[in-house]
Amino acid sequence: MIDAAAAELDRAAARIDRDGGLPTASIARLRDLGVLAAPLPRAHGGQGLGTEPHGALGLMALLRSIGRADLSLGRLFEGHVNALRLIFRDGDATQRQRAAGDVAGGHLFGLWVTDAEPVRLQGAPDRPTLHGEKLFASGASLVTRALVTATPETGAPRMVLVPLDETRAAGPMPSGLTGMRGAATGRCDLAACAVTREALIGRPGAYLLQPDFSSGAWRGSAVALGGIDRLVDLLRAQLAARGRDSDPHQRVRIGEALIARETASFWTRRAALLAEGEGFAAGDVSATVNLARIACEQSGLAVLALVQRGLGLQAFVQSNPAERVMRDLATYLRQPAPDETLTEAAAWFTGRDLPDPEAA
Ligand SMILES: Cc1cc2nc3c(=O)[nH]c(=O)nc-3n(C[C@H](O)[C@H](O)[C@H](O)COP(=O)(O)OP(=O)(O)OC[C@H]3O[C@@H](n4cnc5c(N)ncnc54)[C@H](O)[C@@H]3O)c2cc1C
Repeated sequence: MIDAAAAELDRAAARIDRDGGLPTASIARLRDLGVLAAPLPRAHGGQGLGTEPHGALGLMALLRSIGRADLSLGRLFEGHVNALRLIFRDGDATQRQRAAGDVAGGHLFGLWVTDAEPVRLQGAPDRPTLHGEKLFASGASLVTRALVTATPETGAPRMVLVPLDETRAAGPMPSGLTGMRGAATGRCDLAACAVTREALIGRPGAYLLQPDFSSGAWRGSAVALGGIDRLVDLLRAQLAARGRDSDPHQRVRIGEALIARETASFWTRRAALLAEGEGFAAGDVSATVNLARIACEQSGLAVLALVQRGLGLQAFVQSNPAERVMRDLATYLRQPAPDETLTEAAAWFTGRDLPDPEAA
């Protein structure tokens, strides 16, 4: 789906990284390729990638290939999949139908959770209003259907689907980010956004339901894996181009980078099959995905060090694609609470073994 467009997406990513523009053309390309509609269930005209159990490995391959072309675009697509998955899991028939129509109409969805102070949901039940600001929101000025979490005066947080247009109060994060510039990460003040009762998706607390709350992280790992793929390719190609690939130390680096990549690939595949599969214990699913998240993070960090050591200062020259991909990957690997993620998974699997979704 992506391979033929990869070079074009990579060029766009390099341009946006320099000029700070929005990835509008790359999103349009994904739309034209049918990628934005792929997460819809088959009954709604999609391929069920992320919304039906059979879609696990197809979605992993798609996220990985987009991440390989452009990690920022991968992050935006991952948010789109996440939001649609929650709407099709928890929304009613009308909300699902409307979301499918919106995707057909070209809308980009996003999932915005992070805030400094929890965004509040107030007002009469039939005319709720939002108050507060989302931070580190991917596609803050690009997404046109944002699924946001908001806390009511009483009870657990709700998911609210907010339609957005060019009148939104959004902008980049005040200090910017080192990498992932093409993900248009920013802040969005939701106070000016009108919502209706029909915008509330699922019951109170639905967003936090396990194992989905933790297990969705496998999709971010699949995108990061694409970035690891790209760096391993760049390392091998640039060492060969400079006639340095037969040096025994560089061969060790190439070997170690390939091991790290395959480790990330193994864990992401296992996490995808468990998270998207059926019949596994919820604790096993979230703990395995948590281990997979850390395995991918460790693999990514290892590959970053190998590329820096192997290519040397050339890896820091701004015209070298490795320079941008390294910044993007290093930034993207900063996901929430890694210590807790590892130690909770370790505690879960201290007294039981890991499930194998591919066991006969
Ligand atoms: C490119 C990008 C795009 C993003 N897009 C979105 C988006 O669209 N929507 C959205 O909602 N969010 C988004 N986010 C934000 C993301 O969901 C997380 O909020 C963010 O990645 C958290 O990273 P952190 O390093 O600050 O995590 P932290 O959890 O703060 O971890 C930093 C370190 O502190 C440790 N730590 C954590 N808690 C404690 C504690 N209580 N005491 C002591 N140590 C602690 C951790 O183990 C870790 O070592 C995005 C982030 C990135 C990088």
